[in-house]
Amino acid sequence: MSTVHAWGAAKAGAPLAPMTIERRAPGPHDVVLEVLFCGVCHSDIHQVRDEWTGGLFPMVPGHEVVGRVIARGSEATKFELGALAGVGCMVDSCRQCGPCHDHEEQFCEAGSALTYNGTEMDRKTPTFGGYSTQLVVAEDFAVRIPDGLDPAAAAPLLCAGITTYSPLRQWKVKAGDRVGVIGLGGLGHMAVKLAVSMGAAVTVFSTSASKEADARRLGATGFVVTTPEALGALAGRFDFLLDTVSAEHDYNAFLNLLRPRGAMVLVGAPATAAPVHPFSLIMGSRILAGSAIGGIAETQEMLDHCAAHGIVSDIELIPIQQINAAYERVLKSDVRYRFVIDVSTLRDPAA
Ligand code: NAP
Ligand code: ZN
Ligand code: ZN
Repeated sequence: MSTVHAWGAAKAGAPLAPMTIERRAPGPHDVVLEVLFCGVCHSDIHQVRDEWTGGLFPMVPGHEVVGRVIARGSEATKFELGALAGVGCMVDSCRQCGPCHDHEEQFCEAGSALTYNGTEMDRKTPTFGGYSTQLVVAEDFAVRIPDGLDPAAAAPLLCAGITTYSPLRQWKVKAGDRVGVIGLGGLGHMAVKLAVSMGAAVTVFSTSASKEADARRLGATGFVVTTPEALGALAGRFDFLLDTVSAEHDYNAFLNLLRPRGAMVLVGAPATAAPVHPFSLIMGSRILAGSAIGGIAETQEMLDHCAAHGIVSDIELIPIQQINAAYERVLKSDVRYRFVIDVSTLRDPAA
C-alpha cells in the first residue's frame, strides 16, 4: 500500500479539498500510473453532489485519466515502463459473464468496478478516481494513448470521447447522415468532432448563442439556438440525434426533429425524469434510446480513430486549486470545452 495525494469531497455536496488515499501494491496483472492529467466530467459534479443518490464518501472523482506507467506487476506485459496509458470510467469487471465476453464490460452482469464512487470486484474496497497522483489498475482496463495525441487534450477522450463515439458507431452513423448534437459542452463538442470525422452533416442545438462560432470551427454546418419556434421549423429533418444535456429539458421537441424511424440517443444524464409523450414516438415510428460509455476494446478503437483523424478535446488546463471554481463554470455552461486538471499541481502537499 502507498499513501498518495488526492482531492475529493468529504461528504455529499462538500467542496473538493486535499486528502490522502491508499493505493494497493500492484498485483501481478496491475500497472501503477503516475497520473499526469485528469479531465473534469459533468458526471463528477453530479456524483460529488450526490444528485444520482447512493454516493460513497469520501469521494475522489476523476475518470478521464492519462498517466505514465511507473511500475507493473510481475505478469503485466501490455505496457512498457514509461508508456502513456489511459483509464476511463471502469477499472475492472467480472470478466466471465456474457457482456464481458462480448467486450462490453460496461454491462457486466456483476456490475463493473467503477473508477470512483464504486468498489473493486471484492465489493468492499472503495475506488478512488484520477484527481490523485497515482492510480493502480488492472492492465486490461488501461488503454494505450497513441503517439501524436497531446496527453492533456487526450484525457477527455477516456469518457467524453468514448461516450459519444460509441453511440455514433452502434447506430451506424455514416457519411451524409444529418446528425444533431444537443448541448455543446464536454460531450457535445466531442460528438461534433467525431460525427464530422465520420462524414456526417452536423447541426448543434444549444442554449448558448455565444457558442456558434466555436460550433462551426469544430465542423458543424448548422447551429440552432434552442427555441420552440426554431425546433418547430426543423421537424423531420434529422436522421440521428445525440442528446448530451446535463439538466432536465423537453425531449419531445427534439424527437419531433427526427425523420421516420430516426433515432435519438440520450447520453446526458439529468437526475430528474422528464415526460415523453407516446405520440412523440408513435408518429414517424421514432426511436428513443440511451447509451452508456463503451467497452475497453471500443475505447481503444476510439483512441486509434482519434489519432488517425487528429482529434483531441478542446481544453482549459487548470491547477487542482481551481477545481471548485471550474465546477461552477461547468454548471453555467461556461466551459470551452473541457477542464483538464494538471495533476502535477497535486504533488506538492503544501499546495
Ligand atoms: P457539460 O460539459 O456541462 O455539457 C452539458 C451541456 O448541456 C452544456 O454545455 C449546455 O450546452 C447544455 N445544458 C446545460 N444545462 C442545460 C439546460 N438547463 N437546458 C438545456 N441545455 C443545457 O457536461 P458533460 O460533461 O458534457 O456531460 C453531459 C451529461 O452527460 C452529464 O449529465 C453527464 O453526467 C452525462 N454523461 C453520461 C455518460 C454516459 O455514459 N451516458 C458519460 C459521461 C457523461 P449549451 O450551452 O450548448 O446549451
Ligand atoms: Zn464522464
Ligand atoms: Zn462481467
